[in-house]
This record gives sequence, C-alpha cells and structure tokens, in this order.
Amino acid sequence: MAPGGGIQIPSRLPLLLTHEGVLLPGSTVRFSVDSPRNMHLVSQRLLKGTSLRSTIIGVIPNTRDPDHDTDDLPSLHKIGTAGIAVQVVGSNWPKPHYTLLITGLCRFRVSSLLKERPFVLAEVEQLDKLEHYITPVTERATAEDGDLGELSYNFYQAAVKLLGMLDMSVPVVAKFKRLLDSLPRETLPDVVASMIRTSNKEKLQLLDALTLEERFKKALPLLSRQIEGLKLLKKTRKSSPNNEKRVPSVRKGGVLRQFSRDEEAEDEDDDDTAVLEKKIHEAKMPEAAFKVCLKELKRMKKMPQSMPEFALTRNYLDLMVELPWSRSTTDCLDIPAARTLLDNDHYAMDKLKRRVLEYLAVRQLKTSLKGPILCFVGPPGVGKTSVGRSIARTLGREFYRISLGGVCDQSDIRGHRRTYVGSMPGRIINGLKTVAVNNPVFLLDEVDKLGKSLQGDPAAALLEVLDPEQNHSFTDHYLNVAFDLSQVLFIATANTTATIPPALLDRMEVLQVQGYTQEEKVEIAHRHLIPNQLEQHGLTPQQLHIPQDTTRALISSYTREAGVRSLERKFGAVCRAVAVKVAEGHGVIATEAPTAECPAQQTDKAAPPEMPIVIDSVALKDILGLPPFEMEVSERLTLPGVAVGLAWTPLGGEILFVEASRMEGEGQLTLTGQLGDVMKESAHLAISWLRANAKTYQLTNMVGGPDPLEGTDIHLHFPAGAVTKDGPSAGVTIVTCLASLFSGRLVRSDVAMTGEITLRGLVLPVGGIKDKVLAAHRAGVKCVILPLRNKKDLEELPANVRADLDFVPAANLDQVLNAAFDGGFPGTAGAHTQPQLTSKL
Ligand code: ADP
Repeated sequence: MAPGGGIQIPSRLPLLLTHEGVLLPGSTVRFSVDSPRNMHLVSQRLLKGTSLRSTIIGVIPNTRDPDHDTDDLPSLHKIGTAGIAVQVVGSNWPKPHYTLLITGLCRFRVSSLLKERPFVLAEVEQLDKLEHYITPVTERATAEDGDLGELSYNFYQAAVKLLGMLDMSVPVVAKFKRLLDSLPRETLPDVVASMIRTSNKEKLQLLDALTLEERFKKALPLLSRQIEGLKLLKKTRKSSPNNEKRVPSVRKGGVLRQFSRDEEAEDEDDDDTAVLEKKIHEAKMPEAAFKVCLKELKRMKKMPQSMPEFALTRNYLDLMVELPWSRSTTDCLDIPAARTLLDNDHYAMDKLKRRVLEYLAVRQLKTSLKGPILCFVGPPGVGKTSVGRSIARTLGREFYRISLGGVCDQSDIRGHRRTYVGSMPGRIINGLKTVAVNNPVFLLDEVDKLGKSLQGDPAAALLEVLDPEQNHSFTDHYLNVAFDLSQVLFIATANTTATIPPALLDRMEVLQVQGYTQEEKVEIAHRHLIPNQLEQHGLTPQQLHIPQDTTRALISSYTREAGVRSLERKFGAVCRAVAVKVAEGHGVIATEAPTAECPAQQTDKAAPPEMPIVIDSVALKDILGLPPFEMEVSERLTLPGVAVGLAWTPLGGEILFVEASRMEGEGQLTLTGQLGDVMKESAHLAISWLRANAKTYQLTNMVGGPDPLEGTDIHLHFPAGAVTKDGPSAGVTIVTCLASLFSGRLVRSDVAMTGEITLRGLVLPVGGIKDKVLAAHRAGVKCVILPLRNKKDLEELPANVRADLDFVPAANLDQVLNAAFDGGFPGTAGAHTQPQLTSKL
C-alpha cells in the first residue's frame, strides 16, 4: 500500500538483516552476507528468481551485536528500506559468503512476520513514494511551501555550497552534482546523508524520520558539519608550509565523507602524500620513471584509503623514491693498495688474485669497462665469497650478496607484475634498495644451482641482468620502468661449471679456485681463521694459543674438505669452549697435565686461568670429541678385491674405495652404490678386458678355471653410498680391484688411481687431477697412478704435495697393474724383471 497510490513495491518482502550498514532510499550500498538466513535469501530468492520483482528485497538494519547472533530471530527494527539487488557476487574464501550491491528505493514498515525460515518473509507497508525518481523535476508539482519549502531550500543551498568546495574532476563529486541537479528536493536528505560522512546511528535516525520535515531537520546539521570540517581543513592547509593549491579531493569509499570526523588523521594522510610527492621530485629519477611516479601519485590521491590498491600504489611509490636512481659511491681504486689488501685478506690463491688485479687495473684505465663478468668456480669454503667482498673493499664500493641456490622462478630475479597479490620486486632491485647506491658489487652466489620450473627460466632473466648491452635498461616487472644496472659490478661464484646454463657461462670468465693443501690450510688458519675467530669470540692471543701441531691434527682428523669452512667452525667451537673457561675464571683446561707445583686436584677453581690457554691434542679431543676421520686407507686394503680410486665432485676431490667379491653363480655382475650409466659401462669394460687377458695375467675363477667368470657371480660395490657417482675415471680402479679379486693378491695399500679405460686396455686422460691428487694427499696416500696424458696437470700442484707423492703416469692397463701391486703383477711387462715405473715430479 503506497501513500497516495502510484508505483508500489510488493507487499510481501523477503528481509535481509544487515549489521554493517544502513541503506537509505536513493543510495547504493554493498553488503557482505554470510549468516544462514541471508545466505538462503540470496540462493533461494535472488539467484532463482527471474522477474524484476524477485530482485526487490527489504533491508532491515539489525542493531544487535553480530557476535552474539543466535539462531533465534532478533527483535527487528520496524522501519527498513526496500531495495533492488543490482549485483550478486559469491565467493568461497575465506568462508562462503555473498556480496550484494543494493540500491535503495523507499522506506517500509514491517506489519507482520510471515515466516522466519529459511529466510525472513514479512508483510510490509510502503512509506515513501517512488515517483520522485522517475518523473523529471520540471513536471512535478513543488512541495516547497511554508516551513518545509524553506527547509528544503536551505538544505539545497548547503548542498550546493559543499559541492563548490570539492574537486569536480573526481567521479563521485560529479555524480553528486548530477544528483543534486536532477533529483527532487524531497529525496535530497536521504541521498546527501548517504554520501557525506555520517555514522550508522545518524543514518538510522534519518531512516526513522518518516515525515519530510523531520528528515530535513535531521540531515541539515550533518551537512553543515561536513562543510565546517572542510572549511577548517582548508584553513589549516593555508597556514601549513606544504600548502599547495589543491582543493581537497573526495575519496574514502567513493563517498563524500572525509572531513567530518577524524580530520587529524586525514590531515596526516594528506601531509604524507605531500611528503611523498616531494620525495618523488627529489629522487632524481629518469624522465620515464618520474612520469610514471607522478601518474601513480595522481591515481593514488583519488583512491579511497580502504581500497587494497591504495596500499599497493603507496608501496610502489615508496620503493620508487627509495631506489638509488642517481646515488653512487666514488671508486677509490689504487692498484698497489688493492694488492696489499687482497694479500692481507687471503693467503695463497695467487693466480686468482693476479687475475682480479688485472681486472681492477683495466677498470681503472677504462671506467666504462663492459668487460667480462668474473665467475669464481671451486669447492665450498675456498674463499670465493670473501675475495668478492675484498674486491668491493678495494674499490670502496658497497657489497651485496644474492644467493641464487634453488632459485627456480624467474620472478625471483625480475620481480612479479604488480597485478598479483603480494607482488614484489626481484632480488636485483631489492639489493639496490638495500645498498642504496647504484654501483655496488653484486655477488651472484651459486649460479650453478639455479633451477628451472614452469615459472620461467631464471637463467634467462639473469642473462639480461649480466649482458652489458642490455643491462642499462633492465626492467623489473614490478617497477615496470627501466633501471640502469650498467654501473653495478657483478661477480659470480659456483661449485662447478657443469651445471651453469651454457648461455650464462658464455658471458662469464671462469676463474678456478682450487682446494687447499694441508700446509696451505695451516697457514690460512694461523693468519686468518684463528685471529678472526678469537676476535669474534672476544678472546685475545694472550688468552688462547693454538699451536701449529694442533692445527694439523685438527685438519687431518676432524675435517675432510677442500676448503676451510668446517675448519673455521671447529676453531669456533674451540674458542667457545675457552671463552667459557675464561668467563668463569676457572683454572686451566681440565686436560692440561697437572704440574708438580699445581696438582690438578688442588687447582683453585676461583683463580684466573693460566694465560694463555694452550690447546694441545688432548684438549682438542676433550672439546671436539673423538676424531671422526681416521686414516682409513691402509686398514681397508687388507683383503683382495679392494682398490682406491680418486673422484672429483663439486665439493673437491675425494678418495673412493671400490670393493669386489665373488661367489658361486652364473657369471652375473651386480653393481651397487648409486652409480650412473657411465660408471656401469666402465665396470663392463673392465670385466671384458680382464676376461680377454685372463691367461696373460693368470687370472682364474673360484676353482682355478681359466675364465674368471665361469660359475661365478661378481658383486662390485662403491661405498659412500648416498652420493651418486658417475664418470669414466674409475675405470682403472675397477680393473685393479677385479684383478686383485681374480688373482687373490692384495693391492698396495698406499696407492690411489684414476683414469678412463678402453676395451683395448689403453688409459685415457680424465679431468680434475689437481683436486683428486690433493684429496689423495689429504688421505695419506703415497703413490698416485694417473693417465700419462694428464702428466702436464701435475705442474699446477704445490711443490710440497709433489714432493710427498710418487706419481705413476700410465699409458695402458699393463702399467697400472704393475704399479698397483707390490712387486708388479704376474704377466705385466714390469713384473719382477723391471724396476717399478715411478717418477718423482
Ligand atoms: P666460498 O665462498 O668459497 O664457499 P668463503 O668465501 O665463504 O668460501 O670462505 C669461507 C671462510 O674461509 C671465510 O671466512 C674466508 O675468509 C676463509 N678463507 C677461505 N680461503 C681463504 C684464504 N685463502 N685466505 C684467508 N681466508 C680464507
């Protein structure tokens, strides 16, 4: 029943009970619904209905506390607004809910409730006319007589005044103007109140105002308040130093609200934006980036703060102003000083230091060097990173390390596009932000461990970063503007070149960094590691002394590595133990032998420790426990069928035991120990060669038959199981091991060997000789058999290693077998008759 007839809403309306807002006629509000009744209303009424009428629902403000919502129907507010659901959006996250966009039509009163489930249906009485909205203003009779006329005139004037104070380019202000021009004045209180900042309570009061007069009276103070707030804000702006001729724009939820309540917060926001704008002007960014920033800033100013995009844009702009577009450090390169610094920081590694100095010298002569990118390749802990750091120091540049191990998404390098939620810039841009200059030294750590995945190839992205032709306009997806990386000095490190993508490798100059010998490690320990660790633990050489013998014992019994990283850790452990003693003020370390003057039992616990505390091998055992590594080579070679090979891994050289056993069977070969295909082929080659030459070398099967495989199964095992082993260089070791098994003779316990074999019994050269020989030396081997054509590689070895070891360069297997067994091998050319073919290089 509409007042005075006219267009009517249905007399039975389904009711939407809302907690979060009040819908007034003439306004459009978004509601999120998730309570069971409201969900049913949406699914059974709005989504199923096909007519326009079925989209009309009643919106009743539910003033009760939503947290204490029970299944019972709350006592409902009596007045509500009928509205048309113009949009329904469903989502399952974070819980199932719908978002409804509802435009209010007119007030109604609830006459009676018809049903409560599954949603509330009520008999309603329409309170407002609907004609206002559809009849043009000119055709309507005006209701502006008497008091009401004056009230409505005043209200209209106030609204026009507010409009004059706002920025007309903002869409919501333009809409406000349009409505003001076109809507009849009777509707203005509702429409204006829903656009200016008002609380829910104030809106509810307006909803309950049933006569026009009452409505105008309630809405006018709200409008005046908004105008006053705006005036005040303008005044403070004028007096503030950052004053700009900006008319405050209209933001915050697309509604004209911002100046009514917390003006202070608003003011702060605007100051913030002004500061940001100032920073953009001061960031000295290139023209293109500057333009993008200004555009984004303009966009941001128009956005309501509650919009997620506001924060995104803000973060973006913050990053843009922080980036070092034109901030750089001045290089202070002095080659003699650089040489001293490199020498002081690092012991040995002469070749590497020489090349680094050359590189730096060329840079000094030609500042815009588009030279190669240096890539240090070597086992862990040999000082690759630390040389990189020294280079930065010699140049006086900032240093930043980017770890690439396991990176398999190209957006790690190049950033995510800003359209993604949680998007961020890549590591390069992040690094630049951290160091805050545009010419740092970037160390790309572990380029050999780059992964690949569906998210694109990070190596391809790195190519763009490293290519001097392209990197002056590197475009991070997040920034979306070019950043000049040409001033950045890139250095890469890797454990092996085998897994570096070829295109990337092509851009780099590889400098091999070898593992250290025991003597080098002792020197490094005493010159660098121990002093460093002492300093880190707050100790002085007067408090802790580690003699060279202890260092040697530590190196050989507690570490087995090419570099010095775990050695450094062990020193750290020793320092910690001593630090405790020093801090406690206790006596000498317990393991120190008691002296006649100071028997252990009588040591005064409170007395300061005798300085310095000397770490001997007993103290070492006490602090670090029993040595995990023993010289095991000789122990394991006490049975026929065991030989020692040398393997190369990205972590440096290693010794590798090959074991064989035989049993009755049908000539089957079993291989165990995580082997690759090449290794398996080597095993087959070895067996074939031994069978073919069984007669020459007097090899027999278990019962003395001429074919070693007849009635026999063979099992070959390569211990240190979990590590996958592949490569041809174990060929000679397998032959020696099987020859030992078939002949029943023991292999010499102090021999290790490496070399690829052919079916004809030739020994072919292999790689990684230096690392392998160093590993043999570490393990206490005395003699190394290697391919003849690798003899030249021995020159790279330190003199003391060459002096300690005998080398047997072998061209064929005959020579290998002859050298591997004491007194030669029966049937070999050198057996018994000739002296052993060894050379001391
Ligand atoms: P990498 O990057 O090769 O894995 P690091 O550069 O991290 O190794 O080196 C590990 C530690 O060993 C560092 O504390 C470094 O100072 C030290 N170090 C390695 N080699 C040397 C050397 N030749 N002289 C002095 N210290 C070294």
